Amino acid sequence: MTRERADWQAIADSLVPRTQAFINGAFVDARDGRTSTTIDPATGKVLANVAECGDAEVDSAVLAARTSFESGVWSRASSDTRKATLSKLSELIMANLDELAVTDSLDMGKLVTEAAAIDVPGSAMILQFYAEAIDKLAGEIPVTPPGSVALVRRVPLGVVGAVIPWNYPLEMAIWKLAPALAAGNSVVLKPAEQSPLSALRLAELAAEAGLPDGVLNVVPGRGETVGKAIGMHPDIDVLTFTGSTEVGKKFMSYSGASNLKQVWLECGGKSANLVFADIEDLNEAAEFAARAIFFNQGEVCSANSRLLVQREIAAEFIAAVVAQAKAIKVGHPFDPESTMGPLVDRGHADRVEQYLGDGAALGSVAAGGRRLTIEGSDCYIEPTVITGLPFDSAPATEEIFGPVLSVIEFDTEDEAIAIAHNSEYALAASVWTSNISRAHRVSDRLHVGTVSVNTVDALGVTTPFGGFKGSGFGRDLSLHAFEKFTGLKTTWIRY
Ligand code: NAD
Repeated sequence: MTRERADWQAIADSLVPRTQAFINGAFVDARDGRTSTTIDPATGKVLANVAECGDAEVDSAVLAARTSFESGVWSRASSDTRKATLSKLSELIMANLDELAVTDSLDMGKLVTEAAAIDVPGSAMILQFYAEAIDKLAGEIPVTPPGSVALVRRVPLGVVGAVIPWNYPLEMAIWKLAPALAAGNSVVLKPAEQSPLSALRLAELAAEAGLPDGVLNVVPGRGETVGKAIGMHPDIDVLTFTGSTEVGKKFMSYSGASNLKQVWLECGGKSANLVFADIEDLNEAAEFAARAIFFNQGEVCSANSRLLVQREIAAEFIAAVVAQAKAIKVGHPFDPESTMGPLVDRGHADRVEQYLGDGAALGSVAAGGRRLTIEGSDCYIEPTVITGLPFDSAPATEEIFGPVLSVIEFDTEDEAIAIAHNSEYALAASVWTSNISRAHRVSDRLHVGTVSVNTVDALGVTTPFGGFKGSGFGRDLSLHAFEKFTGLKTTWIRY
C-alpha cells in the first residue's frame, strides 16, 4: 500500500513513545528523575523526554542481567523455548512495522519508506535467522588419549553490554541482540542518545514475546556516562560496540582499566569504490556509485565515500554521478517524493557543513555543496560531489558520515589500490570491471572486510560484516556472530 505523508503523520501523531529505562522487565525512571530530549531533525521539535540513566541504572541493569543469567531462566532454557521466543519477537516486529519505521524516521531523519521497506523487515528477518540457528550449532569431540573423551561446546558468556549508534537504530540493536540472546546471554543495551525510542519499544515487545525479566535491559543515556559505565563495569563479560573509531578505542581502554571484558568493535569507514574504464554499463555503475554514498543521507559506516575512477572515463562517469546526485530530492522523510532526509541532528550537520567548506577550498564542487533549511530545520545537506581533491586531503580521508562524495582519478590498477589503502579504515570497498581477472586480482589485494564486485555495499545475514584496521575487528551477521557471544568450553572425562 502506498502511503501519503498524511498517513505517516497520522501514525506519528498516534505514537506514545516509551521514555523510561527498561530494567528487569519494567519501565523505570532514572533514579534522580533526570531526562534528556530527543529531537526530530526534520522539524527541530522535541519528540520525547527520555530517562537519562547514570551509573545507578547501569548497576541495576547489570544486576538484573546477571541474576537472570545465573538463574538459567534463559541461559539454560531449551533451544525450543529460545527459538519460539525470538521467533515471536520477530513476528511482533513485523506486526508493529509501521510504528517502528515511523519511530526511527522521527528519531534520526531516515526516509520512513526505507525504514518500512528495509530496516524493520530486515530486523525481523535477522532475528528469525538467529532463532533458527540456535539448534543447528553443534560442538566437537576432538581426539584425546584412550580412556578419555573431551566435549567441546560453545557456551554463553554471561552479561553482554551493547552500545550502538543512531544510523540504523532498530537494526543495529538487532544485529547485537539477536545472536547474543540466541546464544543464551543476558544483555544490557545502550542506544545512541539521538535515537533511543525504537530500542525501548523493542524491549517491551521482547517482554510481550516472553523473554524473561532481566534478560534484556535498555538504559538510554549519554555515551560519556552510561556508555562509559557499561565499558568499565566489572560484571559485564562482553562488550559489543558499533560506532566511531574514536569511541571504539575508548572501549578498549575501559576494558583494560576494568575487568578485561571481551571487546568487539565495528567502527568507522571511508570505503573506496574503484571504477575501471572497462565497465560494462557506465550508467548502471554511476547509479550504484551514487546510491552507495547518498543512501540513508550517507550515514552508513560502509558508505562508498571515495569514488576512484580511471582517467579515460572520468569525465563521462563523473557527469553521470553528478546527474544522479542532482536528481535526488531532499525533503521531509515522510514525503513520498523525498529521496533523502535530514541528517541526525544540528551538531552533525555542522560537522558535515565544515567538510563542504574544506572540500570546496581544496577541490571543486560538481554537485550540491550547500546546507539547506527545509520546513524550518537546517539539518539538511545537499547530495554533494567534490572532484579534484588531493587523495590525502581531509575530506578524501576522514569519515564525513554524510552525503559527500570525494572523487579521485587514477591511471593504473596499482595506483587505485594504493589510494584505496591510504586510509586508517578498512571496512569495505567496491570494484567495477568487466574483466574477470582484474575483478579477482583487485579484490584479492584490497585489504578490507567486504569487497563488492560490480555492485556496492553487498551485505546479507548469511555473510559476516566488519572490517580491519581502524574499522575494528568484530563480525556482525552470519553464524560467525556467535563467536563473539559464546566461549569454547572443554569438558574432559576420564573413564
Ligand atoms: P559514536 O561513536 O559517537 O557513538 C556510538 C555509541 O557510543 C553511542 O551510543 C554513544 O552514546 C556511545 N558513546 C559515545 N561516546 C562514548 C564514550 N566516551 N564512552 C562510551 N560510549 C560512548 O558514533 P555515532 O556518531 O553514534 O555513529 C556514527 C559512527 O558509527 C560512524 O563512525 C560509523 O562509521 C559507525 N558505524 C559503524 C558501523 C559498523 O558496523 N562498522 C555501523 C554503523 C555505524
